[in-house]
Amino acid sequence: MNKIIVAIDGFSSTGKSTLAKQLAGKLGYTYVDSGAMYRAITLYFLDKELDLKSSTEVEDSLAHIELRFEDNLICLNGQKVHEQIRTMSVANLVSEVAALPAVRTFAVAQQQKMGVKKALVMDGRDIGTTVFPQAELKIYLTASEEIRTHRRYDEMKASNSLITLSEVAANLAHRDLIDSTREVSPLRMAKDARILDNSNMSMDEQLFIAWEWAMERIQGTDTH
Ligand code: C5P
Repeated sequence: MNKIIVAIDGFSSTGKSTLAKQLAGKLGYTYVDSGAMYRAITLYFLDKELDLKSSTEVEDSLAHIELRFEDNLICLNGQKVHEQIRTMSVANLVSEVAALPAVRTFAVAQQQKMGVKKALVMDGRDIGTTVFPQAELKIYLTASEEIRTHRRYDEMKASNSLITLSEVAANLAHRDLIDSTREVSPLRMAKDARILDNSNMSMDEQLFIAWEWAMERIQGTDTH
């Protein structure tokens, strides 16, 4: 069977990672959460108390970062950091870090290597536009701001009982603004992307639609 690359992009908390992981599982493909890579880099920079304005410090630090996925979980220099990268301190800085050109060059090169053999589902902000502009299927996932905020709040509340809805809303608005206005690879819908608005959909419904689209591409029956 034809192997394809599926790129899933969209604003924060639209449910990209959930959909990408489930779709990859159903297709027997590799799943890559590109946001986890930017979060792990941010965690490293925070630990090192790095000055983001110093391009020398940023470049020197990137040379000491090794990222890998083990069972879909991100490893930073051999350590699983999937829990540490979900804290508010990382969320508050990640968009600034991800806007740095050296960081993007570093991450995108690794992401492109992961796609050489295809059979990959990757989610992020620039996957269909910059990382894999040739991806056979591009999905632009959207959901209303209110729904996105509540989803992220529920997710964060499980590990941080002190978190407030307004704190989560402010973080999402902050990241969405930086992610869509930065100079290098801002979040944009690829011209050939298919829009999936999951505001009023269950996870099963969105998975079914995405899976159908993927199968159309794999079997070459899609005229979209
Ligand atoms: O997907 P997630 O919300 O975990 O991503 C965290 C941050 O990483 C985003 O807000 C964005 O700043 C950055 N990111 C990016 N490009 C990607 C994936 C994530 O700039 N492909």
